[in-house]
Amino acid sequence: MTARRTVTILGATGSVGGSTLDLIARNRERFDVLALTANDDVDGLAEAARRVGARRAVIANAARLGPLRERLAGSGVETAAGRDAVLAAAAEGADWTMAAIVGVAGLAPTMTALETGGTVALANKEALVSAGGIMIEAAQRSGATLLPVDSEHNAIFQCFDRARPETVRRIILTASGGPFRSLSIEEMRHVTPRQAVAHPNWSMGAKISVDSATLMNKGLELIEAFHLFPLPAAGFEIVIHPQSVVHSLVEYRDGSVLAQLGAPDMRVPIAYALAWPERMETPCERLDLVRTGSLAFEAPDEARFPALAIARAALEAGGAKPAILNAANEIAVAAFLDGRIAFLDIASIAADTLHRCDPPAPSTLEDVLETDRLARAAAAEIMGRYET
Ligand code: NDP
Repeated sequence: MTARRTVTILGATGSVGGSTLDLIARNRERFDVLALTANDDVDGLAEAARRVGARRAVIANAARLGPLRERLAGSGVETAAGRDAVLAAAAEGADWTMAAIVGVAGLAPTMTALETGGTVALANKEALVSAGGIMIEAAQRSGATLLPVDSEHNAIFQCFDRARPETVRRIILTASGGPFRSLSIEEMRHVTPRQAVAHPNWSMGAKISVDSATLMNKGLELIEAFHLFPLPAAGFEIVIHPQSVVHSLVEYRDGSVLAQLGAPDMRVPIAYALAWPERMETPCERLDLVRTGSLAFEAPDEARFPALAIARAALEAGGAKPAILNAANEIAVAAFLDGRIAFLDIASIAADTLHRCDPPAPSTLEDVLETDRLARAAAAEIMGRYET
């Protein structure tokens, strides 16, 4: 990498945001940080802004502007607050933007970054699940480069021959299986939020950790992959791979299968996106195949993990269904983390909400946000039947 680049991180205080900051802090001479954003965490935001010398720190929760100003007094970092300030940061035209806000809350800022152009590194899968076609079209219109950061999609991106997409026959997404891979349904009835967020291989935010435990994460990734790579829905398969070493695979028509491997550390795919089309050094653990010994693969059990089939059905139905699935899942995961519903209720609430809601296919960002509101209201009502 030669030329200095301007970067903005949407969701800088989260797990992906932290990994991105770590890489930037190690390479300060290559990057100018225009803006860092967060929702509530003024301490994390102020510390990050000082560490990388950000020009501006933006807090979405307007009530937190005072504390943010206090933490950054004398630092020279500008401060701003509110959702419009987050959108303004996304619209500033950074060369490279990390979209790492969790949930559909990240949709409008990610769309804004895509509409502005430049390179958008996408971690915020819920945005693409809810508004896939609309986001891809926005990127095409502005000429933005969309680079997937989710480890599976980043792996596929590295293996997929974009010049000859017709030569690809199948994409295989790997899934660790999460912390409850070997539990019976009976055992899963009683798992706690604390157990669900303790992922065996990856260190991640609470929401995606629960999604990994239900395997809804893999369902969302299936929909994400469908929007990123030109294959029919039936061309995507899911395989359980407990070690999280093979991050995904692409099969070509001649039977060749290309895979990307590496230690389970998000700094690897983030570094790929940060340096693209070049490569940069990372401090990540190197893959030691001999120490790894053997790699295991198994078929997913859709009876114990119904979220997979629910997500596939939403993908095949298309229209508003993926946005409804995402909204219901966000509501249900938040309720589970709050201790209001049981673990197995998450998939049931998603399925019931999909069954209940049937709005027209969204064609604009506002349509998607309206679908999201409608599905959240329906899911909240349905949840009343499950709450303990
Ligand atoms: P975290 O929960 O750790 O961080 C979320 C970030 O979003 C925080 O900076 C948070 O701010 C901010 N945020 C939350 N709500 C809002 C809001 N309403 N408005 C503005 N900002 C908000 O999430 P992760 O880093 O784990 O995940 C981020 C995204 O990346 C998710 O979509 C996830 O699916 C995806 N992803 C994550 C991976 C991982 O390893 N963690 C791997 C692959 C994909 P604050 O801290 O102030 O609350």
